[in-house]
Order: sequence, then C-alpha cells, then structure tokens
Amino acid sequence: MDNLLCPQCKIRRFYILNSAGERLVVTVSKDKQIHPVHENETLDGFDTSVLYCLGCSWNGSVDTMTDKF
Ligand SMILES: [Zn+2]
Repeated sequence: MDNLLCPQCKIRRFYILNSAGERLVVTVSKDKQIHPVHENETLDGFDTSVLYCLGCSWNGSVDTMTDKF
C-alpha cells in the first residue's frame, strides 16, 4: 500500500491526539486519508489536523507530507 511519509525521516507511521492527550497510531494513504493502524480503532474524537511523526520531532498536516524518498 502506498503511504505518505514524514518529510524529515521518511517513515510512514504517525500518531494523532485527542482532547485527553491519548495517542492513536495512524498511517496516511496517498489520497491524504488517515487510517488507524489497528482495524478496531476509529478516528472519532481525534484531531486529524496535526500529525506527529513516530520517528522524529516532525509534526504537521497531511498536506506537508511527502510521497518521495
Ligand atoms: Zn519523521
């Protein structure tokens, strides 16, 4: 599956936060859709406007991710 990548460290796993500060690990497909890594999880209640890289200090929106290594 084709995923968007962190523009800094080029990994494809990110997390997003809800108002309680809980993390949900996600990937982002090339059509900029955010998908929970685990099938039994949903995006309900999570802020999808900012994604945090699991591999480095990068955070930002899906529009600033890259599909190039
Ligand atoms: Zn990164």
